[in-house]
Amino acid sequence: MARFGGSWDTGQRRNLRRVLVVGGGRAGVAAAEELRRRGFGGEIVVMCDEPDAPYDRPSCSKGVLTGHKRLRDARMPVQDDLAIHWEMDRRAVQLDPVERVVVADTEEVYRYDGLVIATGARPIWPEGWPGGEPGLHALHGLTDAWQLRRSLRRARRVAVLGGGLTGCEVAGAVRAMARDCVLIDSKQQLMSQGLGEVASRYVTEEVARDGVQLRLGRRFRRLDRNRRGWVLVLDDGSEVAADVVVATIGERPDTRWLAGAGVDVTDGVLCDEHLRVLGVEDVVAAGTVARWPNLRYSPRPRRVGQWIAALEQGRAAAASLLRSDHPSRPAALVPRFWSEQFGLRIQVCGEVPTDGSAELTVSRQRPGRRDTARAGVLVGYHRGGEQIGLVGVNAVRAFTTTARMMLAAPPRLVEPPEFVFEQPRPAPHAPVSPAPVSPPRGGPRERFSTGQYAAVR
Ligand SMILES: Cc1cc2nc3c(=O)[nH]c(=O)nc-3n(C[C@H](O)[C@H](O)[C@H](O)COP(=O)(O)OP(=O)(O)OC[C@H]3O[C@@H](n4cnc5c(N)ncnc54)[C@H](O)[C@@H]3O)c2cc1C
Repeated sequence: MARFGGSWDTGQRRNLRRVLVVGGGRAGVAAAEELRRRGFGGEIVVMCDEPDAPYDRPSCSKGVLTGHKRLRDARMPVQDDLAIHWEMDRRAVQLDPVERVVVADTEEVYRYDGLVIATGARPIWPEGWPGGEPGLHALHGLTDAWQLRRSLRRARRVAVLGGGLTGCEVAGAVRAMARDCVLIDSKQQLMSQGLGEVASRYVTEEVARDGVQLRLGRRFRRLDRNRRGWVLVLDDGSEVAADVVVATIGERPDTRWLAGAGVDVTDGVLCDEHLRVLGVEDVVAAGTVARWPNLRYSPRPRRVGQWIAALEQGRAAAASLLRSDHPSRPAALVPRFWSEQFGLRIQVCGEVPTDGSAELTVSRQRPGRRDTARAGVLVGYHRGGEQIGLVGVNAVRAFTTTARMMLAAPPRLVEPPEFVFEQPRPAPHAPVSPAPVSPPRGGPRERFSTGQYAAVR
């Protein structure tokens, strides 16, 4: 059994002059800020393929969609005296960890002493759907949100494929704009993965009460075109016609550029408990792209696709990269997220097991009312006498009190896994959203190999 990245174990302060951060989302920016906060005086370069980053991605399915937020209101505030060098509208296409360079699609080559991988995830595009057709949308960034908003303004009937967090928020925005909405999901309840069975049931009832037509327990089979727009054919042969269709069927880590770099990218970049990427030196990963063992809950490496987790991972990854004489603590964070939709304030803290491995407590805020979610409900998850998870719907005060206690409690960490590093398998490249994140550039795009780095930055 071997632990890779052996030089980490020396405990010496890294001799880093230049840190390159690939990805200008929440995790990448948090890492850059944390490097400075910890006194890193070298060069920090943030490379990102989105020209308008950094911004607040959760706004894309909320205020930006309904028009309550302008695009510029979604900008992520970044302290301007941090001397960060922003290289926007550039996509990393290759990592060479031996030469310590990252190649961009502009053919520029970026050297690094330390690297932060923070490239997030991209939405999955349904197999066989045509790209770039009017009325067909995925939702990831500001450009997508803006295009979808324009479509929604003209739409009469909208179909949303996928009843997870993003799909439900889109449906909420559609209803807020007084459009008809059909929501399709293969499960019997909405957001059941994130909210657990109980809260999910109450929220599903509320969404139906709001007028969304639910087609639950149904799988999508085929997309046809008709004169007015699109027809979704479901697995029972029924059809859903709509002039706008939004696919929110999941996301896939953005790791294409790491192919051939000797990194395990099976469902995200495999890291140890300090977010150090296995198999390469002086490279850390953070945010949705990172798969790491969160020792607060389990030694099994997993990804977390949440805003606050991305922020905290970015900070933890920066600390690992700078590791001084004192070994950094494992990135044992408490996952948490929120959502606002259909007049419901949904908040989740900690783990919400869906396998029946935890005991539940359910406390209704106003027990007499039938609209349980709207009236307020709190669901607690307990294991071994310890509270491990909490879901609140319209129960902000009670949620905040308990969540604060959970966050303040000293973590009991499990033993880290012994990683046996295997030869990386090719990443499953299912189709991702065809919507371009940045406009295509002209000119040839050579693939570089070691020794060919002409235009080194
Ligand atoms: C519509 C939507 C709504 C959401 N709402 C919520 C919410 O309410 N609450 C919540 O907790 N979470 C929410 N999330 C999830 C949350 O936004 C993510 O977990 C968070 O943004 C992850 O941050 P990140 O920095 O890891 O990745 P990202 O925010 O995805 O940032 C990664 C950046 O890297 C860029 N990039 C990718 N590949 C390359 C490359 N090869 N070269 C250069 N740049 C690259 C990407 O374009 C992107 O700009 C939402 C997500 C979406 C899409």
